[in-house]
This record gives sequence, C-alpha cells and structure tokens, in this order.
Amino acid sequence: MPDFYAGCVTECLSDTELLVMRRNGNEELVENIVPQETDYESVELGDVVKIEERPSYKDRAIDICSRNGFSSGNIPAVVEDVFDGTALVRTNNGLSTVTRVPGHVSAGETIAVSAAWTYHDRISESPPDIDDLLSESSTSDDDYEWRYDEEIPVTLDDIGGLDHVKRAVREQIIQPLDTENEDLSDTLDITLSRGLLFYGPAGTGKTRTAKAVTNHVDGDLFIVDGPELVSKYYGETERQIRDVFQEAEQAAETSGDPSIVFFDELDSMAPPRGQADETERRIVAQLLSELDGFDERGDIIVIGATNLVDEIDQAILRPGRFDTQLEFSKPEPEAREAILQISLGETPTADDVHLSAIAAETDKFTGADLAAVVEQAKYLALQDGTSSVRMEHLRISAARRKEEQT
Ligand code: ADP
Repeated sequence: MPDFYAGCVTECLSDTELLVMRRNGNEELVENIVPQETDYESVELGDVVKIEERPSYKDRAIDICSRNGFSSGNIPAVVEDVFDGTALVRTNNGLSTVTRVPGHVSAGETIAVSAAWTYHDRISESPPDIDDLLSESSTSDDDYEWRYDEEIPVTLDDIGGLDHVKRAVREQIIQPLDTENEDLSDTLDITLSRGLLFYGPAGTGKTRTAKAVTNHVDGDLFIVDGPELVSKYYGETERQIRDVFQEAEQAAETSGDPSIVFFDELDSMAPPRGQADETERRIVAQLLSELDGFDERGDIIVIGATNLVDEIDQAILRPGRFDTQLEFSKPEPEAREAILQISLGETPTADDVHLSAIAAETDKFTGADLAAVVEQAKYLALQDGTSSVRMEHLRISAARRKEEQT
C-alpha cells in the first residue's frame, strides 16, 4: 500500500509542479494533481494536499484535503469541548488544551493550533479529510518497535581500529557495569557516563560499537532513527521520546541489565536552538528532561550518533548529558587491515592474499566501504567457482568501490 502524507502548498511552480511544506517543516517538490483526477480546477497556495509517496519518482499530490488550511508549524486538532476561551482538543498526540479560542468555535470543528498551543485558525466545521488522512498515515496505532530484536553477534573485538573509542567504552561503561566489579565501583563511588556522543562520517562503526556495548553489558538495545522520528511522528515526537525511554527503563527493570538507547542522526532531532523552530525546541526540551531524569531511573545508557557534530544544540552536550564525546574517523591503514580481516571472518583466503596491500590501496575508505569490498570479493570468488577469496578478487572489488566513490 502506498504511503501518504499531508503537505501545505507553499508555491505553485507550474501546472505540473508544486512546492509543499510537510508537517515537519521540510519543503518538497511534488508533482501537481492531474486536473482530470479531481473536481478542483487548480491547487492554490495554502491548500492542504494529500501526497502519495513514490520511492522511485517525485512524490505526487493526489487530492486536496482542505482549502487554505493550516500553515507550517501548526497542528490540526479536533475540538472536543470549549469553555471560557479554552478548548479541549484531540490531536495525533492525544488530548490537549488550547487557549485563546474565539467564541464561535464549537465542538466537532477542526482547528489549526499553533506550536504554543494557541488557536490559530479554523480548518473546517467538521473533522475533515485531513484528520482521516493523518490517522491513516499516523503510526499511533501501530506503535513503533524501537527495540532491536535481532541477535547481536558483535563484540568490541569485532571492531577494527578506534582504539580510543574501545578504551573509553570499556573503562566508562563496560567495566563499571560488570557485576564482578559492583562492590569496587560502589566503594570508588564511580559515576557512570550515561550519555555518549559518537561523531564522525557515516560508515565508521558508530552503530556497530553501540551494538557491541549492548552485547558486553548483556543489555537491550533500542535504536531510534532521528530523521524518521521527527518526520514520521511529527506532532507526537515528544511522546515517542517519552515512550522509548519508558520502554527502555521497563526492559532494564525486568532483566536487571542496562538498556542502551541509541539515537542515530541525533542532529536531526536537536539542531542548535537559534536554528530550531518551536517544535524542534520542544523535542530538545523533552530529550533534555529525559536525560536529566536519569538518577531516578534504572540503568539506561544513551548513545547519540551524528556526522554533523556542529549541528547539535550545545545544551545537549553539557555535563551529565552527552558528555562523553568520541570521534569516529575514517580508518588508518592498520585499522583498515583489521577491518578487512574482521569482515572476512571465517571465509577461507588463498595464500596470495595480503590484506596489508589492500589496506594500502584503500585510502579514505570507511569501515562500511571495506566491509562492502570483502562482500563483493566473495561474490567474485563464487563466480570463479573457487572456495577461497583470492588477492585479485579483493583488488578488483576495491578498485570498483573506488570508482563508485569518484
Ligand atoms: P555508522 O553507524 O558509523 O554509520 P556502522 O556501524 O553502521 O556505521 O557500519 C556499517 C558497517 O560497516 C558495519 O556493519 C560493519 O560491517 C562495517 N564497519 C564500519 N566500521 C567498522 C569497524 N571499525 N570495524 C569493523 N567493521 C566496521
């Protein structure tokens, strides 16, 4: 089934193209509604349109949900009751109150609510299509599974290079949490580092390290994809953040082992305050309150990952929050050799294989690139009908990867 989302038209570029603002504030170019498909003559600025998400094409507006509806940053809400200028409203995020509601607004209407929870405008006199649309694409019902359920086979030994990272997580997380060290940790009054920030380019092993940490502490892993959280759950992002922490806390209580909450692409959730809109500020505030509320919780370790460390709100990096910051850089030759070896695992290699030579030829490759080189080399071996990977397989595969990069 195709996915739909709602967008507010911010510009009609031509008969065939529209610029729309998504509910997360992002602007997108979409195809215009083909006139025959609808009774409407044309789409106008401010209209809310239903958009079909198409993976291989430009997304396409397929219907108009409401004319001159809500503008970006406003949340649609259905009025349940109104009293003394305050309305009780239902949004995707549950029940809430809205102030500064004019006298003519009554129960059953759909209104646009500003980010500060004040009345903005009337969208329609009855719950309009947009409400159906939002519940259709909303995920409130099919609650998201943050918990990572797969078996985690990686340990820190399966991570090449990154010695300073491995040392830091061993010293600050794994050893203090080891039950054998419990008494000693107590005597030494060791304060655990609860928030770690992994920063560096994509494919350098941040997620893999979070998995390894989880494995070492025997815990549960919760992976939250920042951009997905913000776009898919727009308007209910804070609730989702609360939920994931609650779930993580429960898991820790039940198992007696810590939970790891891994926020991938943290920058998308917590941009610097100066650049953030109201909604983003609320998300940051929620995140901060969760991070600050740790002392009363069971064991939760939060790991944030980003490749844009300068694009993160500084408040999040203060002591007691993501205060251990670890850089993930592209691997040096020695680390590249180790990553190649790790990626090969048990796969047999021919006598002519010298991983140091491949490492020397793969300058600027990330760990993910090197893992891909090895995978490709295995395919080449299969094609050749040999049961071991030969040097030429690795060479060809590395050269192809390099070509793809340029
Ligand atoms: P990131 O989270 O930094 O984008 P990942 O941890 O998802 O990167 O890495 C993707 C894949 O690349 C891993 O599953 C692994 O196969 C490989 N990889 C990356 N860095 C390393 C490393 N240092 N050691 C071993 N494998 C690595």
